[in-house]
Amino acid sequence: MSGQMNKIEKQSWQCCKCKIPMSPGNVKITYLGNDFTIELLKCPQCGLTLVPEDLAVRKMLEVEQSLEDK
Ligand SMILES: [Zn+2]
Repeated sequence: MSGQMNKIEKQSWQCCKCKIPMSPGNVKITYLGNDFTIELLKCPQCGLTLVPEDLAVRKMLEVEQSLEDK
């Protein structure tokens, strides 16, 4: 019934240049003048990082909340 669903879930992100699977790695970002390190998918070969939009937005919201707490 859900063979297609499994296929989608198991699909991993690929680097658009190298055509190899990306692996998680820590990436430093700067937001509102502060540096943060978040885990993102990164190409082990060329270093290209992938920031899925929903992940980026969620992280930014977390960051904003943590800033407000201070
Ligand atoms: Zn690459």
